[in-house]
Amino acid sequence: MPLTVEGARDFIARAKEAMDSHKDYLTQLDSAIGDADHGINMSRGFGKAHEKVSSGSYGDLGGLFKDVAMVLMGSVGGASGPLYGTFFMKISMKLAGKTEASVEDLREAALEGLNGVLALGKAQPGDKTMVDALQPALEAMKGRAGEAEALEAAVKAAEEGMLATVPMLAKKGRASYLGERSVGHQDPGATSSYLLLTCLRDAVLG
Ligand code: ADP
Ligand code: MG
Ligand code: MG
Repeated sequence: MPLTVEGARDFIARAKEAMDSHKDYLTQLDSAIGDADHGINMSRGFGKAHEKVSSGSYGDLGGLFKDVAMVLMGSVGGASGPLYGTFFMKISMKLAGKTEASVEDLREAALEGLNGVLALGKAQPGDKTMVDALQPALEAMKGRAGEAEALEAAVKAAEEGMLATVPMLAKKGRASYLGERSVGHQDPGATSSYLLLTCLRDAVLG
């Protein structure tokens, strides 16, 4: 069950839905340790990304994900706009020329995306950011026999990683300004990353 261009469109449509339906939740999380806009940012960004890719025609997955990256960079703002923009830009570069991506291709592309996020944001695992959902998810996919198994493992690890941000002390982004007061709250970006992984799983597995 490789991801096709149609599948990638479906992934972005699902991401739009997920960010819309979790808009208030993400904003609530960000109101505790940030500036209460993460849900608004994600919902606007994936709304515009969906609008863009649903009307575009694409010869490869790279072109589609490049449009997603450009739209996120141009419309999300804040910390998460450039970070998710870079994430999808690196993915688009890895998937350039491909009309289909296996789950292993997706893992490799997402690993490039994660490395882009790490290079730009300079966060380490444990700093209470989106990295804490993405990194364990990609790690959990390694060496899985089946594609469904790999995707389910990614979602489970992302969820655990997201929940594990609660006791963490934020070292990056706005939440880090709170110091000890950031402890006891779930990171908004780790939560949106978890949601994105559920959307990818559902788009691939149908
Ligand atoms: P802003 O904080 O600028 O308002 P958002 O609220 O949209 O942006 O996004 C906040 C999220 O961005 C955080 O919850 C965190 O997961 C992520 N984030 C912030 N800084 C970094 C960083 N340096 N590296 C990785 N992720 C980061
Ligand atoms: Mg914010
Ligand atoms: Mg903001």
